[in-house]
Amino acid sequence: MKIGIIGLGLIGGSILKNFVETEHKILAVTRNQATLDKIRGMVYKCSSDYEILSEADAVFVCTPIHKVLETLDKLENIVSKDCAVTDVASVKTFVTQKKRPYNFIPSHPMAGTENSGYDSSFKELFQGAKWVITPFDSKDYSVLQNLIDLTGAKTIVTTAKEHDKAVALISHMPMYISQCLFDVAKGNKLAMQLASSGFRDTTRLAMTDLNLAKDMLSFNGNNINECLSLFQNKLKELKSEYNDEKLSEIKDLRHKMYSKDGKNIVEIN
Ligand code: NAP
Repeated sequence: MKIGIIGLGLIGGSILKNFVETEHKILAVTRNQATLDKIRGMVYKCSSDYEILSEADAVFVCTPIHKVLETLDKLENIVSKDCAVTDVASVKTFVTQKKRPYNFIPSHPMAGTENSGYDSSFKELFQGAKWVITPFDSKDYSVLQNLIDLTGAKTIVTTAKEHDKAVALISHMPMYISQCLFDVAKGNKLAMQLASSGFRDTTRLAMTDLNLAKDMLSFNGNNINECLSLFQNKLKELKSEYNDEKLSEIKDLRHKMYSKDGKNIVEIN
């Protein structure tokens, strides 16, 4: 197959590094001359021009969230109607507002780091991770599932609406709280001197790439606000039932959920 990738940052670059070692041919689109120079010998074709995607069987759109709709629109005049196109944006409902003349299957790999750009990408990023697919108009998403399998990720199929609610809870709200937590504590000089692994772990998401952070808040704002209301209620509720039974329940479930290497091994509920 010929696989197009648009936007060779952390996610696009990591997808490229997975597929270069397969039988598939890569058509890479990047606006960055330095990236073009780095990948030229590794891929079938690379360019800053979308026209190379006219021969693609599948395309991964890996641009920032606020550029995804524009990119999907551009592809309408370039790829064939059978081409499987996915975007990897961390929010999904906004891409399902319009049917596309190609086989459009929105998706979201649940893997990332705080870094961005091609040099921060790496092949192992998706190994053992979940990769969500939110089909809404596609008759056949097996092509995408098969490609995702090659990255070592496991596909989970759901709706865009359910996806956006869920990621608000486990990713977008935690990032916002992590940023607030750091901002509150930073005013105390001694606290900053004493801060160790606990503070480091609970504030890791405060290092999220700035553009990605702003996009997540703006594109999934309603769900994040709902989550913050739940969180505020829980702050009050937990204070009134701060007892062994409640704390053990939280501690045991959290303990069971991850293995020592940090992978989510038990799905709670
Ligand atoms: P990134 O490292 O900043 O890469 C985005 C790439 O998009 C850039 O390297 C650039 O590629 C291209 N780009 C940047 N600005 C653009 C513009 N104005 N117009 C067109 N293309 C532009 O970001 P990323 O973390 O890979 O995120 C890309 C997508 O993956 C986002 O939709 C994000 O929601 C999603 N995602 C991110 C994570 C994460 O943790 N980072 C996880 C899962 C999904 P070129 O220089 O090659 O043109």
